[in-house]
Amino acid sequence: MHANLASIMPQVIAVWCEEAGHDVRLVCYTGFENLTDVLPRDIDLLFISAFTQAAQLSYSISSMFQQRGVVTVLGGPHARCYPQDAQKYFDYVLGFTDKETLNAVLTDCAAHRPMGIHLTAKGQPPTLPGVRERWKFIEPILAKAPILKIVPMIGSLGCPYTCSFCIDSVVTYQPLGFEQIREDLRFLRTKMKRPRVAWHDPNFGVKFTEYMDTIEGAVPPGSIDFLAESSLSLLSEPHLGRLQKNGFKAILPGIESWYSLGNKAKTGSITGAEKVRQVSQHVNMVLRYIPYVQTNFVLGLDVDQGPEPFELTKQFVDMTPGAFPGYSLLTAFGQAAPLNLEFQKNGRVIGFPFHLLNNNHAMNVIPKNYGWPEFYDHVIDLTKYSFSWRAIWNRYRAVRERIPRWMNVVRAISTEGFGRIGYHSKVRRLLQTDPSFLPFLNGESDQLPSFYQDRVRGDLGALWQHLPDGALYHDPNAYLNGQPGVAGPLPGAQAVDT
Ligand code: SF4
Repeated sequence: MHANLASIMPQVIAVWCEEAGHDVRLVCYTGFENLTDVLPRDIDLLFISAFTQAAQLSYSISSMFQQRGVVTVLGGPHARCYPQDAQKYFDYVLGFTDKETLNAVLTDCAAHRPMGIHLTAKGQPPTLPGVRERWKFIEPILAKAPILKIVPMIGSLGCPYTCSFCIDSVVTYQPLGFEQIREDLRFLRTKMKRPRVAWHDPNFGVKFTEYMDTIEGAVPPGSIDFLAESSLSLLSEPHLGRLQKNGFKAILPGIESWYSLGNKAKTGSITGAEKVRQVSQHVNMVLRYIPYVQTNFVLGLDVDQGPEPFELTKQFVDMTPGAFPGYSLLTAFGQAAPLNLEFQKNGRVIGFPFHLLNNNHAMNVIPKNYGWPEFYDHVIDLTKYSFSWRAIWNRYRAVRERIPRWMNVVRAISTEGFGRIGYHSKVRRLLQTDPSFLPFLNGESDQLPSFYQDRVRGDLGALWQHLPDGALYHDPNAYLNGQPGVAGPLPGAQAVDT
């Protein structure tokens, strides 16, 4: 599936660079290629788009190429979240990137060391190249996906909702043009027998009627399968009927918490057990129309306290057996969201190596209302409950279609279910047995436990030797320290409950 998660922006950069007259090669790293073999050698300028999880990998690659005289550029989520750190390892670091920003890099194309230049446009680009223009870059990526092949499309940027932990909560909602969507869908049907499209919109269906009118006007109903992330508030029964008619096969709504964010779940100020009941009813209705539903939760939010939030999620799993539960540990990605500034002011952000920040391998915010052992006990208990054979069987029986029901089984018994139970259990053991663990996780020591360092080293493999000195560490308060007139976290402000 990894190739099906390829981002759109690297393809956009490739198209724009070609338009500017350059020879471009695009490599999509899915985690399995030998990077030293697949990366081109004879280039002048290297763009890398990376999530924070891939930051250290990208720093190693950049260092390797800079030593060969290549100018390097970082874009993507890591560049948006941690520009100050990335500037140490790249010649350019890009925030919002439009054609003008890109052209500034292409024109200058010079080494800027030891500190790279940070460039950002005023906002997200007003338009992006469509599938037709990106196709020559999409096709080789799809070739890496052996069974399901999913084409990435996007129809809007930003989100009108204001979930305080989300990078899109501060980006103005902006549709990208429905005419292009119409043309792209028609084009796709000339290329694939039965295309599958994943909408990369942060919150699909904000302009629901316009979207559906466009799809219905472009292709026969059900001739393309669609996947999208959408909030429950947009998934009313009439909307679901229309989504079903138009071939929507998978929807990923975010529930996040039983005590907050009621607007996106359409539960308003209702919280606790009553919210579980209402959301469960709603998701069960969604499942009558859409065969694959993943419900997303954030664990460790400040509104959570004691065992109740976890117990409520277990109840939800029982009451909504067809939904696949996706759990993320609360993570503050640099300057992604305003909430992170508060965490940093209160001295609650831990300097975990970026490589571990994938919402599961580490939680870099000290929980407000839990000690770490207690928190991990709850997380393990919930994960075991959600991926027990009983829950797997219930999920299998509750889903009608063959591919979605088997997807649920495979995900449960691989890294997302069983794998995480094993990983969290190991962390829990080390919290007890490794004396370096608790001080580091409580922000009292900078000494990274060897368990985490070994993991980064093992994952980077041959590229570990190219990781620049000091690049395993970063300033966890860089966002705060970059604010005018602020020197660091407030003295004695750490809110730890051990
Ligand atoms: S609804 Fe989703 S995309 Fe929108 S702000 Fe909340 S988490 Fe972000």
